[in-house]
Amino acid sequence: MTDRCFWAIKQPMQNAKNITILAAFWDNYVYLVKHSPGQCFAVDPGDAKPVLDALKRLQLRLTHILITHHHADHIGGVGTLKQRTGCQVISTDDKRIAGTDTVMGDGDTTGLGDVTIRCIATPGHTTTSVCYFVSGDSLTQPVLFTGDTLFVCGCGRLFECDGQTMFQSLKKLAALADETLVYPGHNYTEENVRFAMTLEPGKKPLQKKLSEVQMQNQRGHGPPYTVPSVLGEEKQLNPFLRAKDWQTFVSLRRKKDRF
Ligand SMILES: [Zn+2]
Repeated sequence: MTDRCFWAIKQPMQNAKNITILAAFWDNYVYLVKHSPGQCFAVDPGDAKPVLDALKRLQLRLTHILITHHHADHIGGVGTLKQRTGCQVISTDDKRIAGTDTVMGDGDTTGLGDVTIRCIATPGHTTTSVCYFVSGDSLTQPVLFTGDTLFVCGCGRLFECDGQTMFQSLKKLAALADETLVYPGHNYTEENVRFAMTLEPGKKPLQKKLSEVQMQNQRGHGPPYTVPSVLGEEKQLNPFLRAKDWQTFVSLRRKKDRF
């Protein structure tokens, strides 16, 4: 691992106020959300170091961690962060996520500072994957932390569930408001857009998206940012959200696995 993994990402234009995008490892994103003066929560800190560095730089206290699923690159920093900050961990009901203080299930809501967090169960990538829909005065518009369920122009691999289950989970996300900002767990955007273009080669918005993403990936120092995206745009461009039935979804997912 190199130092580049710890650099904070230059903030994109459409980023919601009070959200700081951090990078971990090669292509993971970790998010900090300031929910009250001087206080924040983190989403999926696979590594503690970029979070600890950002807390120091931004003069923030970490009160909570939100976990979307049990994979190591999303929970690896939890132990150190709990020890160093005394924060509380909110996650899905899964024994594989050590250190959980509060379990949230589908439809559960909780308030932190001036934001409200709603848990949406989205099994597919893993049996217990969840997304968090967050809204409130601290944010410019509602935001959705999708872990490895929904990516920009793509979706997660099916490690523990069948395609029908993932298809239903994605439909739940597609029912949310178009202005929702989508914050996924990885930067797989360019590859995802390239895959979508093989399905609809002449689609102008996809070509435009590819040039935007290539510019974002090449810009400046530090890891690239290609987040957030807007859910309304995902509904137009993301082939997995556009699949008309689960059979079509499964065939797309198989194609993408071989891409
Ligand atoms: Zn994962």
